[in-house]
Amino acid sequence: MSDHKHHSKLAPSSFPGLQQCAYFRSGGGTADTSKGTELHGYVEDLYIGKIQPSDIQENDRYNCVWAAGRVENLVALYPPDGDVVVEPDLELLDSDGKQVTFGHSDFLWKSGEIVVVPDLKGCLDFNPEAHYYDPQFACYALMSMQLHDVDRAFCPEINIKPQKQRDFWFTYDEAAAIVQGVVEKVGSEDKRHQVCFSCKFCARLLTCPAINKMHQAIATLCSFGALDPEVINDLLSDKPKPLNVSRVYTFSKLMKKWAENVQAKAKELAESGMDLPFYEPFQRAGRQSISNNDEAFERCTMLDASEFQSAVSVSISKLGEVYSAKSGMSKKAAQKEIVGVLDELVVRGSSSTQLKFVADKIGGGGEE
Ligand code: SF4
Repeated sequence: MSDHKHHSKLAPSSFPGLQQCAYFRSGGGTADTSKGTELHGYVEDLYIGKIQPSDIQENDRYNCVWAAGRVENLVALYPPDGDVVVEPDLELLDSDGKQVTFGHSDFLWKSGEIVVVPDLKGCLDFNPEAHYYDPQFACYALMSMQLHDVDRAFCPEINIKPQKQRDFWFTYDEAAAIVQGVVEKVGSEDKRHQVCFSCKFCARLLTCPAINKMHQAIATLCSFGALDPEVINDLLSDKPKPLNVSRVYTFSKLMKKWAENVQAKAKELAESGMDLPFYEPFQRAGRQSISNNDEAFERCTMLDASEFQSAVSVSISKLGEVYSAKSGMSKKAAQKEIVGVLDELVVRGSSSTQLKFVADKIGGGGEE
């Protein structure tokens, strides 16, 4: 592969991260990145005939042969007007001809009124759907369209390991809108840190204020020691320590609150039209109830009065509300009066144990 100069920010490969968080900075390579680069090299060298399949270790050979074959297929489907350029140097210019960014796609050629810009991805996790490269492709597409003065670009994403191709098409205006959005976000005066899927690739991860804030919140939750595996194991043992039970219970209450908020927000977003991966919104029908008990009893001729009564319950709290609205009394007073009037007709369901928080209660093994 050729040796290219590098930028500190606005590299096309950083566009997916920058679209989410204007402070994103590529964190450099990992073992997976090096493997991906190696696979890229094999496919490009196979395509230009510099190496043979037998030069590639068996574990990668057929994936690379497939990927090079994909490029050949694309060349056959979209015949090049000139050469197929491997790793072309590209640059993006603003309306004044000033360079905004530069980079290189893996292949590029012009075919009639379009440019074809295939890009290779190692996809070592075999899951193309888990990756998001659209803004990077938009940037390659825009630079390629500027170079060849066309206004449509075809950007096939060739995923080497899973042998899967995903296709992206851009008009000039579409690509420009995506790229401009990223460039303006990065240059904005009031940009902010946005925790996102790119954080794990970000060079600022350790010092990022947004991440640190999140860590503090998690640390607060964990300070109960509730996530300690020993505590969980103790809870499940024959003789759990009371303090451990309290810790886990406190943590579960916080998590319940958190989970309820997350679920409510996700449902709200889905209702407002957001398409959530893995989830489909559906309407659950409301609970059925009877609007007129007397009328219902008349119609249920197969049941006697006590059988019908056993299925009917009137909520004291609801009755209190109705009585309060009619009498002008407070709800509490209305409920008390209703309970007095109904006297022995008021029955209670079976009781259940609840726990209430008492900050200064230490007993029961509360000290370690
Ligand atoms: S770690 Fe911080 S700066 Fe980096 S992408 Fe995440 S939120 Fe942005």
